[in-house]
Amino acid sequence: MDDPRKILTMKVGEMPGYGYDCSCGRHHSVDINKIISGSGVLKELPEALKPYAGRKMLVVADNNTVEIGGHRVKAMLDEAGYDTDLLVLETKGYPVLLPDETTVGTLLIHITDEVGILIGVGSGTINDLCKIVSYKMKLPFAIVGTAPSMDGYASVMAPLIVQRQKITYPAHYPVIIVTDTDLLNTAPLIMKQAGFGDVIGKYTALTDWRLAHKVKGDHYCAVTAELVQNAVDDCVANMDAYFGGSPEAVLKMNDTLLLTGISIGLIGYTRPASGSEHHLAHFWEIDAIARGVEHPLHGNSVGLGSIASAEVYKIMRTRFEVVDSVAPPDPDMLREIYSRAGMALTPMELGVSPELFKRSLNNGYRIRPRYTIFNFTMEQGMLPEIADRVTEIMCGGAR
Ligand SMILES: [Zn+2]
Ligand SMILES: [Zn+2]
Repeated sequence: MDDPRKILTMKVGEMPGYGYDCSCGRHHSVDINKIISGSGVLKELPEALKPYAGRKMLVVADNNTVEIGGHRVKAMLDEAGYDTDLLVLETKGYPVLLPDETTVGTLLIHITDEVGILIGVGSGTINDLCKIVSYKMKLPFAIVGTAPSMDGYASVMAPLIVQRQKITYPAHYPVIIVTDTDLLNTAPLIMKQAGFGDVIGKYTALTDWRLAHKVKGDHYCAVTAELVQNAVDDCVANMDAYFGGSPEAVLKMNDTLLLTGISIGLIGYTRPASGSEHHLAHFWEIDAIARGVEHPLHGNSVGLGSIASAEVYKIMRTRFEVVDSVAPPDPDMLREIYSRAGMALTPMELGVSPELFKRSLNNGYRIRPRYTIFNFTMEQGMLPEIADRVTEIMCGGAR
């Protein structure tokens, strides 16, 4: 067997193409061709795209990202002599681009027979859209990140909004990921906070994974969990430098976001990156989409969701030994980290009403057939009581 712990010492840029038989009984591999990450690396994109020359390259952006990088990417590729087109997507009557049926249709229509590769320029929705549509069209895609706001660059899954429900679909890896920290560092604070929140959400995601392993016998990979936890700890240790705009700290955060995406690919499911905190975040997002209002950035919701999940763990661990044994994070420790980052500590700050918050605690677990502390609490017949208490704790009243 290979040394499964070798991956713990590797840099993210060294991981593409790496594969090994792990002590968890599975073979893990990183099926990305190339990750180009660092300061000023955008200029390496034309060279990296050489294998795809000869066919049209469709650059895909939204109203925002076209200004940040879309025009620049197209100009660079034109200058390198490639045949390119630029598609700018928008959702009419909604403040941001939605990855829904209409947008998917628009993108599909613009993929003519000549197109040989999609090049997404963006950090969230654009990445999800290009990933899923290129997968369906059996085309490769490359992604140029514009903000350190989420961990989906290197993920094999992508969420879409279908019939007003957010559903995660299997997709494929990008062949090339370019994250230029000079570009990422220009992202607004709220997007940097979002990336940070998505990273801190791993505390509860990993705890839910351990709980599902212990209670339900779900597959668990200790090395992958350690890989993610180490990266999260590193980001917390460097958070002041990150928010201060230190290029090294932004690179580290970005590598962590890439790494958590890679960890999903290693395992073949999203457990290392997503647990009950993501279910809550998705619940709030779906509610906002149904009402036609803008929802908070994914990572900011995830951050708050992780505090809520940790509050549930805090109560349940005093009553059930098995919950205590999975070492849940202390909600006050998470609060302390988030308040240093200037992030929301109450649902209301995110535009989530106490009523919606309580409803999400009671029903969030229904979003995915995946076992978390909420399923455990429900099975004990305690979910309504715990939802009441955690709503009081987080929305005022008991505190
Ligand atoms: Zn493993
Ligand atoms: Zn996430």
